[in-house]
Amino acid sequence: MKITVAKTAGFCFGVDRAIQLVYRLAGEGEKVCTLGPIIHNPQVVEDLSKKGVRIVSAPEEVKPGETLVIRSHGVSRDVYRRLEQEEIPYEDATCPFVSKIHKIVSDYSEKGRIVLIAGNPSHPEVEGIAGHCKGPVYVFQDENALIKLIEEHPEFTKMPAIMVSQTTFQQNLWETCRKTAKKHYTNLSIFDTICNATSMRQREAVDLAAQSDYMVVIGGRNSSNTLKLKEICSQYCNTVLIETDVELDRDAIRRAGSVGVTAGASTPAYIIKEVRNTMSEILKSQDEEVSFEELLEQSLGEKLYAGKRVKGIVTAISPNEIQIDVGAKQSGYIPIDELTDDPTAKVEDLVKKGDELELIVMKVNDQEGTAMLSKRRCDSEAGFEEILKAYEEGSVLEGVIVDVVRGGVLVLANNVKLFVPASQVSDSRVEDLHTLLKNKVRFKILEVNEGRRRAIGSVRAVLRAEKEAAREEFWKNIEIGQHYTGTVKSLTSYGAFVDLGGVDGMIHITELSWGRIKHPSEVVNVGDTVEVYVKDLDPENKKISLGYKKSEDNPWEILKRDYSIGMVVPVKVVSLTQYGAFAQVMPGIDGLIHISQISTERVNKVSDVLAVGQEVEVKITDIDFDAKRVSLSMRALEEEKQAAAQAEDTSVADIEGVEITSDEE
Ligand code: SF4
Repeated sequence: MKITVAKTAGFCFGVDRAIQLVYRLAGEGEKVCTLGPIIHNPQVVEDLSKKGVRIVSAPEEVKPGETLVIRSHGVSRDVYRRLEQEEIPYEDATCPFVSKIHKIVSDYSEKGRIVLIAGNPSHPEVEGIAGHCKGPVYVFQDENALIKLIEEHPEFTKMPAIMVSQTTFQQNLWETCRKTAKKHYTNLSIFDTICNATSMRQREAVDLAAQSDYMVVIGGRNSSNTLKLKEICSQYCNTVLIETDVELDRDAIRRAGSVGVTAGASTPAYIIKEVRNTMSEILKSQDEEVSFEELLEQSLGEKLYAGKRVKGIVTAISPNEIQIDVGAKQSGYIPIDELTDDPTAKVEDLVKKGDELELIVMKVNDQEGTAMLSKRRCDSEAGFEEILKAYEEGSVLEGVIVDVVRGGVLVLANNVKLFVPASQVSDSRVEDLHTLLKNKVRFKILEVNEGRRRAIGSVRAVLRAEKEAAREEFWKNIEIGQHYTGTVKSLTSYGAFVDLGGVDGMIHITELSWGRIKHPSEVVNVGDTVEVYVKDLDPENKKISLGYKKSEDNPWEILKRDYSIGMVVPVKVVSLTQYGAFAQVMPGIDGLIHISQISTERVNKVSDVLAVGQEVEVKITDIDFDAKRVSLSMRALEEEKQAAAQAEDTSVADIEGVEITSDEE
């Protein structure tokens, strides 16, 4: 005979919180009354009554000196208003999950949305939720009621609406209603507000009932969630609902090969224990050799405690948590923020149903029957071993910058967050560390504090080492004449420094242009990509002279090709000397107009005739390619013009001296 007690049996968080509040107030000597029974459990209600706790059905029934406790189901806005108006002291034990629904319906109905509530219309929780709506609200109990609503009000299906559920609504019924609603409503937002405690309890009840011959559901007959448990389990095996052990059917238990036990959210632990003890006695009488306690312990599985490492199987994945079967009496769950430290990771990429995970127990709550687990911390512990190894070996690790903190950044690597000081995040200064967020980096460990599980890393150390290696490789292969594509890194008055890939070379200012320039910035700017070649090398002093000018741009070659002696060309005066003026024939070539060649008349001072910037026409009188000299003459042009004018004058005079005769005359 096997007996299995559901790990989720008994008080849920919200009920436990409310009951503890009432017991505390009563224990402190306060006169307490509750708005309705604090839970749907007659035994607890009776116990409280013995302690003087009264039940009232409306704020008006509260007597002077009494403090009213609002139970976990919550109440409507109107009740709060009446309490405030009448200045009735009250303590609010509304379960936070219920308060969340109040907020949803209040916010959305205020924006004009219709509210659909899946739940029992006469349940106080549903009444409370409806009482927070500020517009039309409709409650449906099941799919048929929803379809009826759709048929009666087809116009609603086109209007903006939201759908929420009672926290204890049956999960599979919710799924059905949700599908139906989605099919018909065109502008509907659905909020899954079934309480996790409820859904876990119901899921476990299904699993347990499916494996058992007989199910015992413990709880109040007026408790909605207990009744639902009975309803669910009845679909799988013979199920009874009992309020106390007195109602146990001894024969049925003896007959069953396997018995499952679960309990509603409002069933106190002591009642479950009494049922256990009684079942134990029934079994003892049947088989003295096997005690119920032994069976119970067997069914409960391994004992959990905070810090224990366990293995668990993923049984369900919801947006907020991952449910885990760790083979213990508690239901395991991993809150999403305990899954990973990586903010970029997606849950679906990390876990899937059926996966076996290594976990660390964070917290065990025997009252709720839950165990909070962490994958993140488990991974982090394993990751820290890797960090230690990398530190000892001096190896390089990879990670992602996930946060900016005071004095540096946090890098996530091997599920461990390491600190990298601002001075170590790069090999150059970083103005705003936020620009590095989400960057992948390679780093070395500088320091480890094993006790505190902290480590300090350096990206800079890796970058520097990489650059040094690249530099060595570069010097091994560099040759004169080799061409490179580089980036202008800085400019000085005598040249431009170019990064050739970890090694800098310099283009001298005279190498930047065939023409005369005053500053390198006339040709290149910092950040420009330039094509250069190695002109000269000094490996000892690690100096590289770079060439930049191209021979096809050489102005002397252009001059040779396109110009000739005797050609008349426009030039611009660029400088004046005592013996003449230099004029630019083309960028890179200035010719000399000797003082004797400026005019046919005598010139005492060059500046009497020419000024810098003046444009004049000259004749090329000589080109010396070896000496790179060009001689220009304005006088030659003037003489030519004078000769031409003279020649013209002579021919006119000749014509004027001729006597014109005519045969006709
Ligand atoms: S069942 Fe869930 S919502 Fe209801 S009181 Fe318990 S914890 Fe709160």
